[in-house]
Amino acid sequence: MTNRRIGVYICHCGGNISDYVDVDRVRGAIKDEAGVVVAKTAMFTCSDATQQEMVQDINEQKLDGLVVASCSPKLHLFTFREVAKRARLNPYQYTQVNIREQCSWTHTDDKEGATKKAVRLIRAGIARTNLTEPLDPIKIDTVPKVLVVGAGIAGLRAAIGLADLGMSVFLIEKSRDVGGWVKSFGKMYPHNKTGKKIIEQLVNEIKKRENITLFTNTELVEKSGSIGNFNIKIRVDDQNHNEINVNVGSIITATGFDSYRPETGEFGYGLNGVVTLPEFKELLDNSDGNLIYNGKEIKNIVYIYCVGSRQDSGVENAKRYCSRYCCNAAVHSSIVAFEKKPKIHQFHLFRDIRTYGKFELLYNRSREKGSVYLKYDENEPPTVETDLSGKLRVTVRDILTFGEEITVQADLVVLVTGMVPAKNDKLIDALKLPLGRDGFFNEIHPKLRPVETVVDGVFICGACQGPKNSSESVASALAAVTQSASILKKGYVELEPLIASVNPELCSWCDECVNSCPYSAIERGQYQGQEVAVVNKAVCKGCGGCAPLCPKDAINLKGYTDSQIRSMIDAFLKETF
Ligand code: SF4
Ligand code: SF4
Ligand code: SF4
Repeated sequence: MTNRRIGVYICHCGGNISDYVDVDRVRGAIKDEAGVVVAKTAMFTCSDATQQEMVQDINEQKLDGLVVASCSPKLHLFTFREVAKRARLNPYQYTQVNIREQCSWTHTDDKEGATKKAVRLIRAGIARTNLTEPLDPIKIDTVPKVLVVGAGIAGLRAAIGLADLGMSVFLIEKSRDVGGWVKSFGKMYPHNKTGKKIIEQLVNEIKKRENITLFTNTELVEKSGSIGNFNIKIRVDDQNHNEINVNVGSIITATGFDSYRPETGEFGYGLNGVVTLPEFKELLDNSDGNLIYNGKEIKNIVYIYCVGSRQDSGVENAKRYCSRYCCNAAVHSSIVAFEKKPKIHQFHLFRDIRTYGKFELLYNRSREKGSVYLKYDENEPPTVETDLSGKLRVTVRDILTFGEEITVQADLVVLVTGMVPAKNDKLIDALKLPLGRDGFFNEIHPKLRPVETVVDGVFICGACQGPKNSSESVASALAAVTQSASILKKGYVELEPLIASVNPELCSWCDECVNSCPYSAIERGQYQGQEVAVVNKAVCKGCGGCAPLCPKDAINLKGYTDSQIRSMIDAFLKETF
Protein backbone atom coordinates (compact mmCIF):
# COMPACT_ATOMS: atom_id res chain seq x y z
CA MET A 1 0.00 0.00 0.00
CA THR A 2 1.00 3.61 -0.34
CA ASN A 3 -0.02 6.89 1.21
CA ARG A 4 1.00 8.87 -1.82
CA ARG A 5 -1.43 11.18 -3.64
CA ILE A 6 -0.82 11.01 -7.37
CA GLY A 7 -2.61 12.77 -10.24
CA VAL A 8 -2.66 11.02 -13.65
CA TYR A 9 -3.57 12.84 -16.87
CA ILE A 10 -4.06 10.96 -20.12
CA CYS A 11 -3.83 12.96 -23.31
CA HIS A 12 -5.90 12.58 -26.51
CA CYS A 13 -3.42 14.80 -28.42
CA GLY A 14 -6.39 15.84 -30.57
CA GLY A 15 -6.83 12.40 -32.10
CA ASN A 16 -3.15 11.64 -32.40
CA ILE A 17 -3.41 9.33 -29.40
CA SER A 18 -7.13 8.71 -28.94
CA ASP A 19 -7.71 7.52 -32.54
CA TYR A 20 -5.59 4.45 -31.76
CA VAL A 21 -5.69 4.20 -27.95
CA ASP A 22 -9.00 4.01 -26.10
CA VAL A 23 -8.08 6.66 -23.53
CA ASP A 24 -11.32 6.30 -21.54
CA ARG A 25 -10.72 2.58 -21.10
CA VAL A 26 -7.15 3.33 -20.10
CA ARG A 27 -8.37 5.80 -17.49
CA GLY A 28 -10.77 3.16 -16.13
CA ALA A 29 -7.93 0.65 -15.85
CA ILE A 30 -5.54 2.88 -13.93
CA LYS A 31 -7.83 5.01 -11.78
CA ASP A 32 -7.73 2.60 -8.82
CA GLU A 33 -3.99 1.98 -8.88
CA ALA A 34 -2.28 2.43 -5.53
CA GLY A 35 -1.63 6.10 -4.84
CA VAL A 36 -3.86 7.49 -7.61
CA VAL A 37 -6.33 10.11 -6.35
CA VAL A 38 -6.95 11.98 -9.62
CA ALA A 39 -7.28 10.27 -13.03
CA LYS A 40 -8.40 12.39 -15.95
CA THR A 41 -8.27 12.49 -19.72
CA ALA A 42 -7.67 15.74 -21.61
CA MET A 43 -7.93 16.72 -25.25
CA PHE A 44 -4.55 18.52 -25.11
CA THR A 45 -2.70 18.15 -21.81
CA CYS A 46 -0.08 20.69 -22.87
CA SER A 47 -2.74 23.39 -23.41
CA ASP A 48 -2.76 26.30 -20.99
CA ALA A 49 -6.20 25.34 -19.72
CA THR A 50 -5.18 21.77 -18.79
CA GLN A 51 -1.92 22.96 -17.26
CA GLN A 52 -3.94 25.33 -15.11
CA GLU A 53 -6.31 22.51 -14.14
CA MET A 54 -3.31 20.40 -13.06
CA VAL A 55 -1.94 23.22 -10.90
CA GLN A 56 -5.36 23.55 -9.29
CA ASP A 57 -5.65 19.78 -8.69
CA ILE A 58 -2.18 19.60 -7.18
CA ASN A 59 -3.06 22.35 -4.73
CA GLU A 60 -6.64 21.34 -3.94
CA GLN A 61 -6.05 17.59 -3.79
CA LYS A 62 -2.66 17.99 -2.11
CA LEU A 63 -1.01 15.85 -4.76
CA ASP A 64 2.57 14.73 -4.15
CA GLY A 65 3.10 12.99 -7.47
CA LEU A 66 2.18 13.73 -11.09
CA VAL A 67 1.99 11.48 -14.15
CA VAL A 68 1.20 12.73 -17.64
CA ALA A 69 0.69 10.09 -20.31
CA SER A 70 1.15 11.91 -23.58
CA CYS A 71 3.99 12.39 -26.06
CA SER A 72 7.75 11.94 -25.85
CA PRO A 73 9.51 13.53 -22.86
CA LYS A 74 11.80 15.09 -25.47
CA LEU A 75 8.87 17.35 -26.30
CA HIS A 76 7.19 18.10 -23.01
CA LEU A 77 9.15 16.79 -20.01
CA PHE A 78 10.16 20.33 -19.07
CA THR A 79 6.67 21.72 -19.75
CA PHE A 80 5.15 19.48 -17.09
CA ARG A 81 8.06 19.85 -14.69
CA GLU A 82 7.28 23.57 -14.85
CA VAL A 83 3.61 22.81 -14.12
CA ALA A 84 4.73 20.91 -11.02
CA LYS A 85 6.97 23.79 -9.96
CA ARG A 86 4.14 26.31 -10.42
CA ALA A 87 2.08 24.23 -7.99
CA ARG A 88 5.04 23.97 -5.59
CA LEU A 89 5.41 20.24 -6.24
CA ASN A 90 9.00 19.07 -6.58
CA PRO A 91 9.51 18.65 -10.37
CA TYR A 92 11.32 15.34 -9.87
CA GLN A 93 8.11 13.85 -8.52
CA TYR A 94 6.74 14.11 -12.04
CA THR A 95 6.82 11.22 -14.53
CA GLN A 96 6.09 11.48 -18.24
CA VAL A 97 4.78 8.37 -19.94
CA ASN A 98 5.03 8.29 -23.71
CA ILE A 99 1.85 6.72 -25.12
CA ARG A 100 1.95 8.64 -28.41
CA GLU A 101 5.22 7.55 -30.02
CA GLN A 102 5.23 4.24 -28.13
CA CYS A 103 1.55 3.26 -28.51
CA SER A 104 -0.66 5.18 -30.91
CA TRP A 105 1.96 5.97 -33.54
CA THR A 106 3.56 2.53 -33.47
CA HIS A 107 0.42 0.37 -33.36
CA THR A 108 -1.99 2.07 -35.74
CA ASP A 109 -3.24 -1.34 -36.88
CA ASP A 110 -4.00 -2.67 -33.40
CA LYS A 111 -6.13 -0.44 -31.20
CA GLU A 112 -6.66 -3.17 -28.58
CA GLY A 113 -2.93 -3.85 -28.34
CA ALA A 114 -2.06 -0.15 -28.27
CA THR A 115 -4.61 0.41 -25.50
CA LYS A 116 -3.27 -2.47 -23.41
CA LYS A 117 0.29 -1.28 -23.87
CA ALA A 118 -0.72 2.21 -22.76
CA VAL A 119 -2.25 0.75 -19.58
CA ARG A 120 0.97 -1.13 -18.80
CA LEU A 121 3.19 1.88 -19.45
CA ILE A 122 1.06 4.19 -17.31
CA ARG A 123 0.90 1.66 -14.47
CA ALA A 124 4.71 1.50 -14.56
CA GLY A 125 4.83 5.31 -14.49
CA ILE A 126 2.54 5.36 -11.46
CA ALA A 127 4.63 2.69 -9.71
CA ARG A 128 7.78 4.72 -10.29
CA THR A 129 6.08 7.91 -9.08
CA ASN A 130 4.98 6.19 -5.88
CA LEU A 131 8.66 5.86 -4.97
CA THR A 132 9.86 9.29 -6.07
CA GLU A 133 11.39 11.66 -3.59
CA PRO A 134 12.04 15.39 -3.87
CA LEU A 135 15.38 16.13 -5.52
CA ASP A 136 17.24 19.37 -6.05
CA PRO A 137 19.32 20.29 -9.08
CA ILE A 138 23.07 20.13 -8.58
CA LYS A 139 24.51 23.64 -8.43
CA ILE A 140 28.05 24.23 -9.71
CA ASP A 141 29.96 27.52 -9.61
CA THR A 142 31.41 28.55 -12.97
CA VAL A 143 34.78 30.03 -13.96
CA PRO A 144 34.33 33.00 -16.35
CA LYS A 145 36.97 31.77 -18.80
CA VAL A 146 36.63 29.93 -22.09
CA LEU A 147 38.96 27.77 -24.12
CA VAL A 148 38.50 28.09 -27.89
CA VAL A 149 40.12 25.27 -29.84
CA GLY A 150 41.01 26.23 -33.41
CA ALA A 151 41.81 29.69 -34.72
CA GLY A 152 40.16 29.60 -38.11
CA ILE A 153 37.47 32.10 -39.01
CA ALA A 154 34.98 30.54 -36.54
CA GLY A 155 37.43 30.29 -33.63
CA LEU A 156 38.77 33.82 -34.12
CA ARG A 157 35.27 35.28 -34.28
CA ALA A 158 34.16 33.28 -31.22
CA ALA A 159 37.14 34.53 -29.21
CA ILE A 160 36.32 38.15 -30.04
CA GLY A 161 32.64 37.68 -29.20
CA LEU A 162 33.46 36.12 -25.83
CA ALA A 163 36.06 38.75 -24.97
CA ASP A 164 33.52 41.48 -25.68
CA LEU A 165 31.16 39.84 -23.21
CA GLY A 166 33.81 40.09 -20.53
CA MET A 167 35.14 36.52 -20.66
CA SER A 168 38.82 35.65 -20.56
CA VAL A 169 39.66 33.53 -23.57
CA PHE A 170 42.44 31.05 -24.28
CA LEU A 171 42.56 30.57 -28.04
CA ILE A 172 44.70 27.63 -29.15
CA GLU A 173 45.69 26.72 -32.70
CA LYS A 174 47.40 23.50 -33.77
CA SER A 175 49.30 25.00 -36.71
CA ARG A 176 51.86 27.77 -36.83
CA ASP A 177 49.47 30.33 -38.34
CA VAL A 178 45.93 31.33 -37.54
CA GLY A 179 43.16 31.71 -40.11
CA GLY A 180 42.57 28.13 -41.24
CA TRP A 181 41.47 27.65 -44.84
CA VAL A 182 40.07 31.15 -45.20
CA LYS A 183 43.45 32.86 -44.91
CA SER A 184 44.49 31.22 -48.18
CA PHE A 185 41.33 32.19 -50.07
CA GLY A 186 41.42 34.93 -52.67
CA LYS A 187 38.45 37.18 -53.42
CA MET A 188 35.31 36.04 -51.65
CA TYR A 189 31.67 36.56 -52.53
CA PRO A 190 29.84 38.95 -52.20
CA HIS A 191 32.24 41.67 -50.97
CA ASN A 192 35.29 40.65 -53.02
CA LYS A 193 37.54 41.00 -49.99
CA THR A 194 40.25 38.36 -49.89
CA GLY A 195 40.26 35.69 -47.20
CA LYS A 196 43.67 36.96 -46.15
CA LYS A 197 42.24 40.46 -45.55
CA ILE A 198 39.34 39.11 -43.50
CA ILE A 199 41.66 37.09 -41.28
CA GLU A 200 44.02 40.08 -40.87
CA GLN A 201 41.04 42.14 -39.72
CA LEU A 202 40.08 39.52 -37.12
CA VAL A 203 43.66 39.15 -35.90
CA ASN A 204 43.88 42.94 -35.44
CA GLU A 205 40.73 42.81 -33.34
CA ILE A 206 42.20 39.96 -31.27
CA LYS A 207 45.33 42.04 -30.61
CA LYS A 208 43.20 44.89 -29.26
CA ARG A 209 41.68 42.66 -26.56
CA GLU A 210 43.76 42.03 -23.50
CA ASN A 211 41.53 39.23 -22.30
CA ILE A 212 42.42 36.94 -25.23
CA THR A 213 45.55 34.81 -24.97
CA LEU A 214 46.52 33.18 -28.25
CA PHE A 215 48.72 30.08 -28.43
CA THR A 216 49.81 28.72 -31.82
CA ASN A 217 51.53 25.37 -32.40
CA THR A 218 49.43 24.23 -29.48
CA GLU A 219 47.20 21.25 -28.81
CA LEU A 220 44.78 20.25 -26.09
CA VAL A 221 46.11 17.08 -24.49
CA GLU A 222 43.99 16.49 -21.41
CA LYS A 223 40.69 17.53 -19.94
CA SER A 224 39.30 16.87 -16.50
CA GLY A 225 36.61 18.51 -14.41
CA SER A 226 33.22 19.40 -15.75
CA ILE A 227 30.95 22.16 -16.98
CA GLY A 228 31.74 25.42 -15.24
CA ASN A 229 35.16 24.22 -14.09
CA PHE A 230 37.31 22.30 -16.55
CA ASN A 231 41.02 21.73 -16.00
CA ILE A 232 42.77 21.65 -19.33
CA LYS A 233 46.32 20.73 -20.17
CA ILE A 234 47.64 22.24 -23.39
CA ARG A 235 50.98 21.46 -25.02
CA VAL A 236 52.87 24.18 -26.83
CA ASP A 237 55.12 22.67 -29.49
CA ASP A 238 58.02 25.05 -28.96
CA GLN A 239 61.61 24.16 -28.18
CA ASN A 240 60.75 23.11 -24.64
CA HIS A 241 57.42 21.38 -25.43
CA ASN A 242 55.82 23.40 -22.68
CA GLU A 243 52.74 22.06 -20.96
CA ILE A 244 50.39 24.63 -19.49
CA ASN A 245 47.34 24.08 -17.28
CA VAL A 246 44.36 26.33 -17.75
CA ASN A 247 41.12 26.45 -15.83
CA VAL A 248 38.00 27.31 -17.85
CA GLY A 249 34.23 27.21 -17.48
CA SER A 250 33.49 26.06 -21.02
CA ILE A 251 35.13 24.94 -24.25
CA ILE A 252 34.30 25.91 -27.81
CA THR A 253 35.61 23.54 -30.47
CA ALA A 254 36.16 25.15 -33.86
CA THR A 255 38.62 22.82 -35.52
CA GLY A 256 37.34 23.18 -39.08
CA PHE A 257 37.58 20.66 -41.90
CA ASP A 258 39.92 19.01 -44.38
CA SER A 259 39.42 19.13 -48.11
CA TYR A 260 38.62 15.79 -49.77
CA ARG A 261 41.67 14.28 -51.43
CA PRO A 262 40.63 12.11 -54.38
CA GLU A 263 42.05 8.62 -54.86
CA THR A 264 44.62 8.27 -57.61
CA GLY A 265 42.68 7.69 -60.81
CA GLU A 266 39.42 9.09 -59.40
CA PHE A 267 38.18 11.33 -62.23
CA GLY A 268 41.76 11.29 -63.57
CA TYR A 269 43.34 12.52 -60.35
CA GLY A 270 47.07 12.03 -60.64
CA LEU A 271 47.18 12.96 -64.35
CA ASN A 272 49.07 16.11 -65.21
CA GLY A 273 46.53 18.97 -65.27
CA VAL A 274 43.95 17.40 -62.95
CA VAL A 275 43.71 19.51 -59.79
CA THR A 276 41.39 19.89 -56.81
CA LEU A 277 39.30 22.99 -56.25
CA PRO A 278 41.56 24.37 -53.46
CA GLU A 279 44.57 23.90 -55.75
CA PHE A 280 42.77 25.73 -58.55
CA LYS A 281 41.78 28.59 -56.23
CA GLU A 282 45.42 28.99 -55.27
CA LEU A 283 46.39 29.07 -58.93
CA LEU A 284 43.76 31.75 -59.59
CA ASP A 285 44.89 33.86 -56.66
CA ASN A 286 48.51 33.69 -57.70
CA SER A 287 48.01 34.65 -61.34
CA ASP A 288 47.97 38.32 -62.18
CA GLY A 289 47.58 38.33 -65.93
CA ASN A 290 47.40 35.11 -67.86
CA LEU A 291 46.28 31.80 -66.38
CA ILE A 292 49.23 29.44 -66.59
CA TYR A 293 49.54 25.85 -65.40
CA ASN A 294 52.90 24.08 -65.56
CA GLY A 295 54.18 26.72 -67.97
CA LYS A 296 51.24 26.33 -70.37
CA GLU A 297 48.44 28.78 -70.98
CA ILE A 298 45.01 27.58 -69.87
CA LYS A 299 42.29 28.02 -72.50
CA ASN A 300 39.81 25.27 -71.62
CA ILE A 301 38.80 24.33 -68.08
CA VAL A 302 36.50 21.45 -67.18
CA TYR A 303 35.04 21.35 -63.68
CA ILE A 304 33.71 18.06 -62.35
CA TYR A 305 31.31 18.50 -59.43
CA CYS A 306 30.48 16.27 -56.47
CA VAL A 307 33.95 14.71 -56.24
CA GLY A 308 34.05 13.06 -52.82
CA SER A 309 30.48 14.08 -52.06
CA ARG A 310 27.26 12.03 -52.18
CA GLN A 311 29.30 8.92 -52.90
CA ASP A 312 27.77 5.53 -53.43
CA SER A 313 27.48 3.46 -50.25
CA GLY A 314 29.55 0.78 -52.03
CA VAL A 315 32.63 3.00 -51.94
CA GLU A 316 34.95 2.38 -49.00
CA ASN A 317 34.48 5.09 -46.33
CA ALA A 318 31.86 6.66 -48.59
CA LYS A 319 31.10 10.34 -48.07
CA ARG A 320 27.36 10.17 -48.48
CA TYR A 321 26.61 13.80 -47.66
CA CYS A 322 26.54 16.93 -49.82
CA SER A 323 29.22 19.47 -48.90
CA ARG A 324 26.93 22.38 -49.86
CA TYR A 325 29.62 24.97 -50.25
CA CYS A 326 31.44 23.46 -53.26
CA CYS A 327 28.89 24.35 -55.98
CA ASN A 328 29.07 27.99 -54.91
CA ALA A 329 32.84 27.93 -54.61
CA ALA A 330 33.32 26.40 -58.08
CA VAL A 331 30.85 28.75 -59.78
CA HIS A 332 32.50 31.73 -58.07
CA SER A 333 35.96 30.52 -59.15
CA SER A 334 34.79 30.34 -62.75
CA ILE A 335 33.72 34.01 -62.55
CA VAL A 336 37.11 34.97 -61.15
CA ALA A 337 38.70 33.01 -64.02
CA PHE A 338 36.61 35.00 -66.54
CA GLU A 339 37.73 38.23 -64.86
CA LYS A 340 41.32 37.19 -65.34
CA LYS A 341 40.82 35.88 -68.85
CA PRO A 342 37.47 36.77 -70.51
CA LYS A 343 37.95 34.50 -73.53
CA ILE A 344 38.51 31.32 -71.54
CA HIS A 345 36.20 28.32 -72.15
CA GLN A 346 34.72 26.76 -69.06
CA PHE A 347 32.63 23.59 -68.87
CA HIS A 348 30.90 22.58 -65.64
CA LEU A 349 29.95 18.90 -65.40
CA PHE A 350 27.49 18.58 -62.55
CA ARG A 351 25.33 15.89 -61.00
CA ASP A 352 23.01 18.43 -59.39
CA ILE A 353 23.78 22.04 -58.81
CA ARG A 354 22.65 24.12 -55.85
CA THR A 355 23.72 27.72 -55.57
CA TYR A 356 21.21 28.50 -52.88
CA GLY A 357 20.14 31.89 -51.51
CA LYS A 358 22.15 34.88 -52.62
CA PHE A 359 24.53 32.64 -54.54
CA GLU A 360 21.88 32.10 -57.26
CA LEU A 361 23.13 35.36 -58.77
CA LEU A 362 26.58 33.84 -59.15
CA TYR A 363 25.24 30.96 -61.19
CA ASN A 364 23.47 33.34 -63.57
CA ARG A 365 26.54 35.51 -63.88
CA SER A 366 28.75 32.53 -64.65
CA ARG A 367 26.37 31.42 -67.43
CA GLU A 368 26.07 34.95 -68.85
CA LYS A 369 29.82 35.14 -69.08
CA GLY A 370 29.91 31.94 -71.13
CA SER A 371 30.17 28.97 -68.78
CA VAL A 372 28.58 25.83 -70.21
CA TYR A 373 26.77 23.57 -67.76
CA LEU A 374 26.32 19.87 -68.58
CA LYS A 375 24.50 17.44 -66.31
CA TYR A 376 25.80 13.92 -65.86
CA ASP A 377 24.06 10.88 -64.46
CA GLU A 378 25.48 9.57 -61.19
CA ASN A 379 25.61 6.08 -62.72
CA GLU A 380 27.57 7.31 -65.70
CA PRO A 381 30.13 9.79 -64.39
CA PRO A 382 32.48 11.65 -66.73
CA THR A 383 35.79 10.01 -67.63
CA VAL A 384 39.13 11.79 -67.75
CA GLU A 385 42.10 10.46 -69.75
CA THR A 386 45.03 11.71 -71.73
CA ASP A 387 45.10 11.34 -75.53
CA LEU A 388 48.13 10.38 -77.57
CA SER A 389 49.40 13.94 -77.63
CA GLY A 390 49.28 14.01 -73.82
CA LYS A 391 46.28 16.34 -73.69
CA LEU A 392 43.50 15.82 -71.21
CA ARG A 393 40.25 14.56 -72.72
CA VAL A 394 37.02 14.55 -70.72
CA THR A 395 34.00 12.61 -71.95
CA VAL A 396 30.53 13.10 -70.54
CA ARG A 397 27.00 12.04 -71.45
CA ASP A 398 24.87 15.15 -71.06
CA ILE A 399 21.40 14.40 -69.70
CA LEU A 400 20.15 17.87 -70.69
CA THR A 401 20.69 17.08 -74.38
CA PHE A 402 19.05 13.66 -73.99
CA GLY A 403 22.26 11.73 -73.50
CA GLU A 404 24.50 13.22 -76.17
CA GLU A 405 28.12 12.18 -75.63
CA ILE A 406 30.40 15.18 -75.50
CA THR A 407 34.19 15.17 -75.45
CA VAL A 408 36.13 18.21 -74.34
CA GLN A 409 39.86 18.72 -74.61
CA ALA A 410 40.95 20.39 -71.42
CA ASP A 411 44.07 22.22 -70.34
CA LEU A 412 42.93 21.89 -66.77
CA VAL A 413 40.40 19.63 -65.03
CA VAL A 414 39.21 20.97 -61.70
CA LEU A 415 37.79 18.36 -59.34
CA VAL A 416 35.24 20.15 -57.19
CA THR A 417 36.05 18.48 -53.90
CA GLY A 418 33.96 18.71 -50.77
CA MET A 419 34.73 18.97 -47.07
CA VAL A 420 35.71 16.00 -44.95
CA PRO A 421 36.17 15.82 -41.19
CA ALA A 422 39.54 17.06 -39.98
CA LYS A 423 41.79 14.48 -38.32
CA ASN A 424 41.36 15.20 -34.63
CA ASP A 425 41.90 11.87 -32.90
CA LYS A 426 43.72 13.27 -29.86
CA LEU A 427 41.13 15.99 -29.32
CA ILE A 428 38.20 13.58 -29.75
CA ASP A 429 39.79 11.32 -27.19
CA ALA A 430 40.45 14.10 -24.70
CA LEU A 431 37.07 15.79 -25.02
CA LYS A 432 35.07 12.56 -25.51
CA LEU A 433 33.07 14.26 -28.21
CA PRO A 434 30.73 12.01 -30.16
CA LEU A 435 30.93 11.91 -33.96
CA GLY A 436 28.06 11.60 -36.38
CA ARG A 437 27.94 8.87 -39.03
CA ASP A 438 29.72 11.22 -41.42
CA GLY A 439 32.63 11.68 -39.00
CA PHE A 440 31.92 15.33 -38.12
CA PHE A 441 31.21 16.36 -34.52
CA ASN A 442 27.64 15.81 -33.51
CA GLU A 443 25.40 18.42 -31.97
CA ILE A 444 22.59 17.46 -29.58
CA HIS A 445 19.80 18.59 -31.89
CA PRO A 446 20.37 20.09 -35.35
CA LYS A 447 17.56 22.60 -34.97
CA LEU A 448 16.93 23.17 -31.29
CA ARG A 449 20.44 22.81 -29.83
CA PRO A 450 22.73 23.16 -32.84
CA VAL A 451 26.00 24.04 -31.08
CA GLU A 452 25.67 22.03 -27.88
CA THR A 453 27.18 18.57 -27.43
CA VAL A 454 26.37 15.74 -25.05
CA VAL A 455 29.35 16.86 -23.00
CA ASP A 456 27.92 19.67 -20.90
CA GLY A 457 29.89 22.88 -21.32
CA VAL A 458 31.57 21.79 -24.56
CA PHE A 459 30.26 23.49 -27.70
CA ILE A 460 31.03 23.05 -31.39
CA CYS A 461 30.90 25.53 -34.23
CA GLY A 462 32.07 26.04 -37.78
CA ALA A 463 32.85 23.27 -40.25
CA CYS A 464 33.99 20.78 -37.58
CA GLN A 465 30.31 19.88 -37.24
CA GLY A 466 29.60 19.57 -40.96
CA PRO A 467 30.13 21.44 -44.22
CA LYS A 468 29.54 25.18 -43.91
CA ASN A 469 30.61 28.29 -45.78
CA SER A 470 32.46 31.02 -43.92
CA SER A 471 29.43 33.12 -43.04
CA GLU A 472 27.58 30.06 -41.74
CA SER A 473 30.66 29.18 -39.71
CA VAL A 474 30.74 32.63 -38.15
CA ALA A 475 27.00 32.48 -37.42
CA SER A 476 27.45 29.19 -35.57
CA ALA A 477 30.50 30.58 -33.74
CA LEU A 478 28.37 33.42 -32.43
CA ALA A 479 25.68 30.93 -31.39
CA ALA A 480 28.34 29.04 -29.41
CA VAL A 481 29.45 32.33 -27.84
CA THR A 482 25.91 33.03 -26.70
CA GLN A 483 25.45 29.54 -25.25
CA SER A 484 28.80 29.57 -23.55
CA ALA A 485 28.42 33.06 -22.10
CA SER A 486 24.87 32.40 -20.93
CA ILE A 487 26.19 29.62 -18.69
CA LEU A 488 29.19 31.50 -17.39
CA LYS A 489 27.62 34.92 -16.90
CA LYS A 490 25.20 33.57 -14.30
CA GLY A 491 28.09 32.39 -12.16
CA TYR A 492 26.62 28.94 -11.64
CA VAL A 493 24.94 26.08 -13.51
CA GLU A 494 22.19 23.78 -12.41
CA LEU A 495 22.49 20.14 -13.43
CA GLU A 496 20.02 17.27 -13.38
CA PRO A 497 20.06 15.41 -10.07
CA LEU A 498 19.02 12.13 -11.75
CA ILE A 499 22.48 10.63 -11.42
CA ALA A 500 24.24 7.61 -9.98
CA SER A 501 25.18 7.43 -6.33
CA VAL A 502 27.35 4.85 -4.60
CA ASN A 503 26.58 3.44 -1.19
CA PRO A 504 30.10 3.38 0.31
CA GLU A 505 29.06 0.83 2.94
CA LEU A 506 28.49 -1.74 0.17
CA CYS A 507 31.24 -0.83 -2.30
CA SER A 508 34.33 -3.05 -2.32
CA TRP A 509 36.23 -1.03 -4.97
CA CYS A 510 36.33 -3.65 -7.68
CA ASP A 511 36.28 -0.83 -10.31
CA GLU A 512 33.73 -2.61 -12.55
CA CYS A 513 31.68 0.60 -12.60
CA VAL A 514 34.69 2.76 -13.50
CA ASN A 515 35.25 0.75 -16.66
CA SER A 516 31.58 0.82 -17.59
CA CYS A 517 31.12 4.58 -17.43
CA PRO A 518 31.28 6.19 -20.90
CA TYR A 519 31.72 9.66 -19.36
CA SER A 520 34.56 8.86 -16.92
CA ALA A 521 32.34 10.04 -14.09
CA ILE A 522 33.47 7.53 -11.47
CA GLU A 523 36.64 8.02 -9.50
CA ARG A 524 38.46 6.30 -6.67
CA GLY A 525 37.70 7.80 -3.25
CA GLN A 526 38.01 6.99 0.42
CA TYR A 527 35.41 6.01 3.01
CA GLN A 528 36.39 5.14 6.57
CA GLY A 529 39.91 4.26 5.46
CA GLN A 530 38.70 2.03 2.60
CA GLU A 531 38.89 2.64 -1.15
CA VAL A 532 35.45 3.14 -2.67
CA ALA A 533 33.92 4.39 -5.90
CA VAL A 534 32.78 8.01 -5.94
CA VAL A 535 30.56 9.57 -8.59
CA ASN A 536 31.50 13.01 -9.87
CA LYS A 537 28.08 14.67 -9.74
CA ALA A 538 28.94 17.23 -12.36
CA VAL A 539 30.08 14.66 -14.91
CA CYS A 540 27.56 11.85 -14.43
CA LYS A 541 24.86 11.86 -17.09
CA GLY A 542 22.56 9.44 -15.32
CA CYS A 543 22.78 7.02 -18.22
CA GLY A 544 22.44 4.05 -15.87
CA GLY A 545 25.28 2.06 -17.43
CA CYS A 546 27.07 1.42 -14.15
CA ALA A 547 24.25 0.38 -11.79
CA PRO A 548 23.41 -3.08 -13.17
CA LEU A 549 27.09 -4.04 -13.36
CA CYS A 550 27.91 -3.51 -9.72
CA PRO A 551 28.34 -6.96 -8.13
CA LYS A 552 27.55 -5.51 -4.69
CA ASP A 553 24.39 -3.64 -5.69
CA ALA A 554 26.09 -0.56 -4.32
CA ILE A 555 24.97 1.84 -7.07
CA ASN A 556 21.57 3.38 -7.39
CA LEU A 557 20.37 5.83 -9.96
CA LYS A 558 18.40 8.66 -8.40
CA GLY A 559 14.91 8.73 -9.90
CA TYR A 560 15.39 5.17 -11.19
CA THR A 561 16.43 3.25 -8.10
CA ASP A 562 16.44 -0.53 -8.02
CA SER A 563 13.18 -0.54 -6.07
CA GLN A 564 11.59 1.81 -8.58
CA ILE A 565 12.64 -0.36 -11.50
CA ARG A 566 11.39 -3.51 -9.75
CA SER A 567 8.05 -1.91 -9.00
CA MET A 568 7.77 -0.81 -12.63
CA ILE A 569 8.42 -4.36 -13.82
CA ASP A 570 5.76 -5.69 -11.43
CA ALA A 571 3.33 -3.10 -12.75
CA PHE A 572 4.04 -4.08 -16.35
CA LEU A 573 3.27 -7.69 -15.60
CA LYS A 574 -0.19 -7.14 -14.10
CA GLU A 575 -3.26 -8.20 -16.11
CA THR A 576 -4.44 -5.25 -18.18
CA PHE A 577 -8.23 -5.69 -18.16
S1 SF4 B 1 1.03 16.94 -24.39
FE1 SF4 B 1 1.97 16.00 -26.17
S2 SF4 B 1 0.52 14.41 -26.67
FE2 SF4 B 1 -0.59 15.88 -25.42
S3 SF4 B 1 -1.51 17.38 -26.80
FE3 SF4 B 1 0.47 18.18 -26.19
S4 SF4 B 1 1.80 17.45 -27.83
FE4 SF4 B 1 0.00 16.18 -27.95
S1 SF4 C 1 31.12 -1.78 -9.19
FE1 SF4 C 1 30.19 -1.50 -7.20
S2 SF4 C 1 31.55 -2.49 -5.80
FE2 SF4 C 1 32.69 -2.21 -7.68
S3 SF4 C 1 33.73 -0.25 -7.40
FE3 SF4 C 1 31.82 0.20 -8.42
S4 SF4 C 1 30.38 0.68 -6.76
FE4 SF4 C 1 32.13 -0.34 -5.85
S1 SF4 D 1 25.06 6.71 -14.56
FE1 SF4 D 1 26.23 6.62 -16.49
S2 SF4 D 1 27.37 8.52 -16.49
FE2 SF4 D 1 26.70 8.23 -14.39
S3 SF4 D 1 28.36 7.18 -13.38
FE3 SF4 D 1 26.96 5.60 -14.12
S4 SF4 D 1 27.73 5.00 -16.13
FE4 SF4 D 1 28.70 6.97 -15.59
